[in-house]
Order: sequence, then structure tokens, then C-alpha cells
Amino acid sequence: MKLMFLGAPGAGKGTQAEIVAKKYSIPTISTGALLRQAMKDGTELGLKAKAFIDAGKLVPDEVVIGIIKERLNNDDCKNGFILDGFPRTVPQAESLDAMNIKMDLVISIEVSDEDIIKRMSGRRICSECGASYHTVHIPTKVEGVCDACGGKLTIRDDDKPETVISRLEVYHKQTEPLKDYYKASGKLVLVNGMDSIENITAEIENKLDSIRG
Ligand code: AMP
Repeated sequence: MKLMFLGAPGAGKGTQAEIVAKKYSIPTISTGALLRQAMKDGTELGLKAKAFIDAGKLVPDEVVIGIIKERLNNDDCKNGFILDGFPRTVPQAESLDAMNIKMDLVISIEVSDEDIIKRMSGRRICSECGASYHTVHIPTKVEGVCDACGGKLTIRDDDKPETVISRLEVYHKQTEPLKDYYKASGKLVLVNGMDSIENITAEIENKLDSIRG
């Protein structure tokens, strides 16, 4: 099963991708998480990506396409995978076509800009393992401490309000056209992202059941 999540930053792609990935025992591939890990490790890739990420801009296509190609070659992708945050531009989508990767379903999680801006202020991330939380919607058992590894929670640098606004602009201009791209191939479904996490998962599972017959 090959799935793709589209949606604005903070729409809940990562949260839903993790839930669905667990259920079907397939990996979630998040270019954002791979880039954050590279920044944390201080690699050449991380250094290159940092300036773009901090400015709320997209990392150049050739860089992320290179990362994705390498990651999709891993053995754990043999039975399928979920793409979270890739592709974000038409050339990135075309690179998947060029690799002959055909998605079974493209799920766009729809949330208004107003709601995204409200949500982002509560978003937290584990400084150790990268797990995502939200002070209201996905609280940890102990405030400020990651449930999974005990690491300290922090706010992503690019979740600052001014950066979120740039990221939303980039989303509308460069990523939203992908909805038409995948609509044309009949793979696109829209899911209302302004609901509880459980209800959104249920709606996604309905759509998955319909393609699985
Ligand atoms: P995310 O965690 O998906 O919100 O990604 C965080 C940041 O990483 C984005 O704002 C971009 O700067 C960069 N990034 C992640 N995925 C991509 C991608 N597919 N193309 C370009 N930049 C990306």
C-alpha cells in the first residue's frame, strides 16, 4: 500500500500518517523529519537545509528528491509506505512518476488557515526522538516530557508565528496545485481535518477500505 498525505503545515498529516502506518505495519517517510535529523546531526545536508527551513521556505527540489530516492530504496519500503510532506511541488511529484512509483491513494487533509495558525501555537516536538505532540490535542502524560523516550519537548523553530505565515503562503502557492495533479489521476480524496483525531482516522480508514475493496 502506497499512501500520500497532503495538507498545510499543521493539518495533522504526521499524526494521521503515524496512526495509519502502525495499523498497516508500513513506514512513514517524512522529508521534514529526515531534514530535522540531518540538522541535529550537523551533516552537510542539514547545514544546507537549515536556512531554507528557518525561513519557512522549501528546501530545493533536487535535495529532497535525492533524500527520498535513497530512503525509498530501503528494504522496509518493499510492502508499501506513507509519504508525509513529500511531494511539495509539481517537479517532486513528477520525480515519483519518473521512479515509476504509483500511489494507491492521495489523502488531502483540509484545514482553514485560521485554524492552522491557532493550532501551531500548541505544537511541541521531542528534542530527542522527534515525536510530535500538542498541548491541547495530544498532551504528554508529564508536561514537557516525551511519552516515548523521556526527552525534553521543544517548539520547532519554524513553528514561530511569522514563519508559519510564510509556510502557509508557500503551501498555497507551491503545494496546493498538487491536488489538481492527483485529481487528474483519480487518486485524490479530501478529508475534513477540522474534527477530532479519532474521527479523522475513521474517515481515512473508510477511504482506504473503499480502495481495498
Ligand atoms: P514538515 O515537517 O513536513 O513541516 O517540514 C518542515 C520543513 O522542511 C518545511 O517547511 C520545508 O522547509 C522542509 N521540507 C520538508 N519536506 C520538504 C519537501 N518535500 N520539499 C521541500 N522542503 C521540504
